[in-house]
Amino acid sequence: MEFDGIKNKFGFGCMRLKMVDEKVDYAEFAKMIDLFMDNGFTYFDTARVYLGGQSETALRDCLVKRYPRSSFTLTDKLSDSCWSEEKDIRPLFESQLESLGTDYLDFYLFHAMSAPRYEKYQREHAFEVVQQLKKEGKIKHIGMSFHDQPEVLDKILSEQPCIEVVQIQFNYLDIDNPHVRSMGCYDVCVKHHKPVIVMEPIKGGTLVNLPDEALDVLKECGKGSPASYALRYVGSHDQIFMILSGMGTREQMLDNISTMKDFVPFGEKEFTAVKKVNEILTKAHTIPCTSCHYCTPGCPMQIPIPEIFAIRNNETLFHVWSPKKDYEMLTMDKSKASACIACGQCEGICPQQLEIISLLKEIAEKYE
Ligand code: SF4
Ligand code: SF4
Repeated sequence: MEFDGIKNKFGFGCMRLKMVDEKVDYAEFAKMIDLFMDNGFTYFDTARVYLGGQSETALRDCLVKRYPRSSFTLTDKLSDSCWSEEKDIRPLFESQLESLGTDYLDFYLFHAMSAPRYEKYQREHAFEVVQQLKKEGKIKHIGMSFHDQPEVLDKILSEQPCIEVVQIQFNYLDIDNPHVRSMGCYDVCVKHHKPVIVMEPIKGGTLVNLPDEALDVLKECGKGSPASYALRYVGSHDQIFMILSGMGTREQMLDNISTMKDFVPFGEKEFTAVKKVNEILTKAHTIPCTSCHYCTPGCPMQIPIPEIFAIRNNETLFHVWSPKKDYEMLTMDKSKASACIACGQCEGICPQQLEIISLLKEIAEKYE
């Protein structure tokens, strides 16, 4: 499971970068990249749809222009919402290379693959186009990020041998989550001998912001931050060759680096502890939103869906005394949950398959 130039299994997911006035904070991003590279980490993950295209261009200016191309690994994706027909794929890919300022990608992934998307990708010969790009030397390895059930993954991997790596959502809270089935997907990758890239190891921050009862379990188990437990859990599975963390601050990065630099796999004690934390969080009935923001650009009412869910989850987990006030502050200059017109765009794209329309309705009734 070795790929050229990849020396360790920790990658920088560039989808939650620090923003200032709706623009990526370049100075901060460059400092984070330097910190990351200085510590021997070299894998960067992006997509055209991250931060409205700014993730790609920020990587060009803060990474590609500042470091020799051979010193880092760059992964980008073919996102479904960016193309309609076969003829769109090559120009999209070329524009991604241009945005990144490079003439090749180390990995190119079919993004957020699911059963309906697989139909489109087959119909429009996306697998053939991407294999041709690989033959031309513009892509070193082909992969797929995946959001569906293990049975669908098994079918795709059986039919598409060109896929060399699979990116799945894997963390100790989603192991048996019926919408995600992390362990089922992982087992399919093992069956097909595909190295696994992990996204959402801390489930969009959920496994960092733990309630006291869960924090006590981890404290009793030993030292280390909640994030360190989440990363060590993931890294303790043999088929995983890369763990992506969507770090937004240097503080988060330092914490993650301290875990991943001298990696210590879980023993039985730690596996038992995170199982207990899983039970506590599952019992709390939070909304399993990962704050990926896939749903927001296409919302005709511009509803800040993940931020609204975060307020509701904070109330559930931490019993904050002012959720209505937080909600009023958030929606002072943004649309409220009640503005939803039930168009369904968000539900069609949500990788967690959340029933966003009814959740927003409940929240509107509660907070408005
Ligand atoms: S269903 Fe509601 S929240 Fe979702 S995209 Fe449509 S208007 Fe926005
Ligand atoms: S509701 Fe779904 S698509 Fe929107 S941010 Fe949450 S997980 Fe992502």
